[in-house]
Amino acid sequence: MSDQRRDLERGMYGRAVPVRPAPGDRSPTECPRGHNLAIATVRSGYHHRYGLTAITCGACHALGDPLATWCLVDPARQYDAGTAPSSGLVLVRTPPPLRGGVGQLSLRIDGETQADVDLAICGPCKRGVIEHVRTDIPRRGYGRVLIAAALALAAPTEYLWSTTRIADDPVTRAFWAGISWPGKLGTTDYCTDMDRAAGRLPDW
Ligand SMILES: [Zn+2]
Ligand SMILES: [Zn+2]
Repeated sequence: MSDQRRDLERGMYGRAVPVRPAPGDRSPTECPRGHNLAIATVRSGYHHRYGLTAITCGACHALGDPLATWCLVDPARQYDAGTAPSSGLVLVRTPPPLRGGVGQLSLRIDGETQADVDLAICGPCKRGVIEHVRTDIPRRGYGRVLIAAALALAAPTEYLWSTTRIADDPVTRAFWAGISWPGKLGTTDYCTDMDRAAGRLPDW
């Protein structure tokens, strides 16, 4: 085994590498830095801590980029809290108590929540609202995967998505810009079901 090969593989074990959404476990054509993987060369492996497929971009690796290896998460693979695997990286969905109410998606590693998003979705009105995104460890892609998981529940081609007011700081703006958010940002489009569920309208 060459030194480069050994280095490539060393990155795939133990460390909490970044994650990226991969709908249907589709193999990416680009790395997170935008390298065309057909040219950059690519190696795939298995990340034991996450229990997920790990991808390494040969170009990023050769440049010593910390984003050279990342793991693929299918945003549509979501578990109920009661049946979620207790090891590896999993997405857990907590439905809202009533229609239009606020539910939650969380990203857990070995049963511990590392990031979560509060969201309201109304099927009849075709609205979705992201209320809050929280990550314990920034810049790992956890928030990005959670937003992709929200959009997997209500496709932006059918649903009008919006967010509550976002913090006016460079990190927050870079996050939303980096994930190509398909909805409105910072202007909330609640439907009447969401207003009623949140007690903003009388319950009649
Ligand atoms: Zn790359
Ligand atoms: Zn509604």
